[in-house]
Amino acid sequence: MHPLIQPDPQIQPQRSPETELQPRVVPRAEHPVSRANISPNALKVLYRLRQAGHQAYLVGGGVRDLLLGHEPKDFDVATDATPEEVRGVFRNCRLIGRRFRLAHVFFGQEIVEVATFRGTGDDGDGDDDRRLENGRLIRDNVYGTIAEDALRRDFTINALYYNIEDFSLVDYAGGLADIEAGRLRLIGDDPAARYREDPVRMLRAVRFACKLGFMIAPDCEGPLHELAPLLREISPARLFDETLKLMHAGYALHAFEKLRHFGLFAELFPETDDCLAGEEQGFPITFVSRGLDNTDRRVLDGKPVSPAFLFAVLLWEPVRRRWQALQEEGRSSIEAMAMASHEVASRQQRQVAIPKRHGLPMREIWTLQPRLERRQGKRAMVLIGHPRFRAAYDFLLLRAEAGEVDQEIADWWTHFQEVDAGERARMSGAGKRKRRRRRRKVAAAKPDAGGNVASAPREGQVSGDADA
Ligand code: ATP
Ligand code: MG
Repeated sequence: MHPLIQPDPQIQPQRSPETELQPRVVPRAEHPVSRANISPNALKVLYRLRQAGHQAYLVGGGVRDLLLGHEPKDFDVATDATPEEVRGVFRNCRLIGRRFRLAHVFFGQEIVEVATFRGTGDDGDGDDDRRLENGRLIRDNVYGTIAEDALRRDFTINALYYNIEDFSLVDYAGGLADIEAGRLRLIGDDPAARYREDPVRMLRAVRFACKLGFMIAPDCEGPLHELAPLLREISPARLFDETLKLMHAGYALHAFEKLRHFGLFAELFPETDDCLAGEEQGFPITFVSRGLDNTDRRVLDGKPVSPAFLFAVLLWEPVRRRWQALQEEGRSSIEAMAMASHEVASRQQRQVAIPKRHGLPMREIWTLQPRLERRQGKRAMVLIGHPRFRAAYDFLLLRAEAGEVDQEIADWWTHFQEVDAGERARMSGAGKRKRRRRRRKVAAAKPDAGGNVASAPREGQVSGDADA
């Protein structure tokens, strides 16, 4: 509930006889969105556009989150200036996007996204600025009025505009009522058509429902299961971005459960979903849940999280099964893991493309697992210096928690990291093992000398022992 927005449930957007949409306008005194909470750079962009004679509004997640008392992730601006006109106003500006052309205004690390109002129809010049193919919007570059712009957005709560002219809120789609009701609702009266236009809206529905704790309106929830396969038409690179947004914001476990519920997870991670489907009661589901819960706790504690670890968790069950199968065929544990990692990671690229810079460390987390289970000799010393050791160790802890490896092995590594070099040497038993081998060799060469003459191996002699 938002007591600061004056309740006005009677006033819903109405179409006038000329079919021009009348918005609900909430004056500054009656809503809580304050310039104090808007990024100074976004304000600069709004003011500069206005000075140049254009309309300028804050829109989207920034307005929504400020109304709900959340800190916005970024600030999006909507204007009647064309992208070229926007570029004329700002020197620190780049135009991006083909499907959806817009301007990025740069302020050091911060980017303020400036989009021109989109129109709903064809502009009549026949040059394909707005194109639908099989109901899917593949280009959306016809400009229009703010009213039209509001109606082509995804959810009502994302179509609220903050007007820099008089600091009022402008609501064309009933978003304020939905914010007050905690309800996520697609704009328009045909939710299935809106998902078909852009199937990623299905993932956005899950994301906002989790992030805001909102319920998805029943008519928007209804088509999800049936339309989930439309995600196959989306580029794997875009699905990678969306997956990260879903999983790295502190509600990954909840998002995972909702994605599975609506059949969306199977479209993103089909092999994992296959494994989980048969084993709701077994440890695989526990493993993924624990991994995601762990990720959520790290995000909430402000600790860094990595896509490599996240995807290592999400794809582990198919990797683990293939690893086992290959070992049963007679491969060594290390070789089987290298093969399984490669196979599963390659197949996954068809759905969600994991960029190399994350894909390589993801595979290292996996390939270190069998090596962490073999700790004797100098191996432990070498492994602890591996750049991916810490992530692989965290992963091992999850496997132990899920009952997949002995807790004793995980505890051993925990202890190994806490002690000094001398104790590490004792724990790994490096010296002992070498001495025994040396003794045997000496005894073989000089049967009369006995085992007592062998000297302790020097540091470094044994480094070739590591299977680096
Ligand atoms: P956040 O930035 O917190 O993830 P957001 O709502 O601002 O949430 P953005 O991806 O930044 O999401 O998009 C800004 C706005 O653009 C949205 O609020 C929405 O109005 C519109 N929008 C974004 N993606 C779509 C889409 N696929 N279909 C229709 N409108 C969209
Ligand atoms: Mg945004």
